[in-house]
Amino acid sequence: MEPERDTMNTTPVDALMTTYKRMDVTFVRGEGAWLWDSTGRRYLDALSGIAVCGLGHAHPQIAAALCEQAQLLWHTSNLYRIAHQEELGRRLALRSGLERVFFGNSGAEANEAAIKVARLYGRKRGLELPHVIVMEGSFHGRTMATLSATGNAKVQAGFEPLVQGFLRVTYGDLSAVEALFASRRDIVAVLVEPVQGEGGIVVPPAGYLRGLRELCTRHEALLMFDEIQSGMCRTGTWFAFQHEGIVPDVMTLAKSLGNGFPIGACLAAGAAAEVLQPGTHGSTFGGNPLATRVGVAVMDALEAAGQPARAAELGTRMLAGFRARFAGVDGVSVRGLGLMLGIELDRPCGDLVGQALAAGLLINVTADRVVRLLPPLVISDAEADEIMDTVSELVRRFVAA
Ligand SMILES: *Cc1c(COP(=O)(O)O)cnc(C)c1O
Repeated sequence: MEPERDTMNTTPVDALMTTYKRMDVTFVRGEGAWLWDSTGRRYLDALSGIAVCGLGHAHPQIAAALCEQAQLLWHTSNLYRIAHQEELGRRLALRSGLERVFFGNSGAEANEAAIKVARLYGRKRGLELPHVIVMEGSFHGRTMATLSATGNAKVQAGFEPLVQGFLRVTYGDLSAVEALFASRRDIVAVLVEPVQGEGGIVVPPAGYLRGLRELCTRHEALLMFDEIQSGMCRTGTWFAFQHEGIVPDVMTLAKSLGNGFPIGACLAAGAAAEVLQPGTHGSTFGGNPLATRVGVAVMDALEAAGQPARAAELGTRMLAGFRARFAGVDGVSVRGLGLMLGIELDRPCGDLVGQALAAGLLINVTADRVVRLLPPLVISDAEADEIMDTVSELVRRFVAA
């Protein structure tokens, strides 16, 4: 006989698939860079829901736009014109220098669109088996094509057969890409993060992205930047590629585009902007009135908050602040671009996440040994200093233990 189940005593988490190791804390309210849990305790958020809430929690103007749209119209399908989708597309094109946008609902979907663009572009060039160059240490999502593009064995393990058509090289190594182009004729695109996020906040050598631009142009391949984590002002420019004064053929966005409302986008220019035609791709929800009204409000709020200049200023302050705090501390190195900050330790440091939570601070550890900080772009100098003080104290204690 089945044991009797007292449903009142069954914790709800038991009904969820164990895709995440969840910490035992439930947040019930947020404001700016601060969150409150169900016991009323306050936390400073230095992660922004993994680079999502760039404008902080419960942003008043974005919340107002969402509420207004919720009472007007949520969804009509892409069988009809959607004014906010058209406006958001125009504004993203203007900011990025790309031309056309396809809207989906997540980062993985944005990258799926990019991969489909690359394949169709290859077919147009007469290539039967088009290949995309991807990087070691990359992360592009959890769907079959995007996990196949991802350069992390843990993400792929057990899901074979993987999607074919990806060639992998070392991130930051321009000559490896050049060698692949020299040795084969079936390369249609390079898909790369301008700064690797999940891979451990890896900033490539200066000139790398520009070098990729030149190689792709020379070999008629599409340069495709995954800016899902780095985009929307986080690195101190609207998009991280703008630090090198170039423009890709394709760019993907998601995370902070909706400040927490699910939305993703694949932008393209030139020939890449023309390959998707009716019947080749689509999304029921993608770019619906509710999501794109929020996206427009996010663009407005970023502009009103003096972004991306403020993120650049904060990034400079925090990089210098951390370097000063860790000067002379062995086994700790700091790197980053804007408000994508990584502190690499000489040992696995996942335990720091719980220690920080206990200290009232939300951080993340990625690639085993890298403390990843992705604070809201709207933090004050004082909040930035509080993050630096708490993190440096925890890290110092950790490496001394
Ligand atoms: C988070 C992320 C993705 C995947 O986005 P989802 O919305 O989780 O599908 C893809 N690429 C990069 C660089 C990311 O950081």
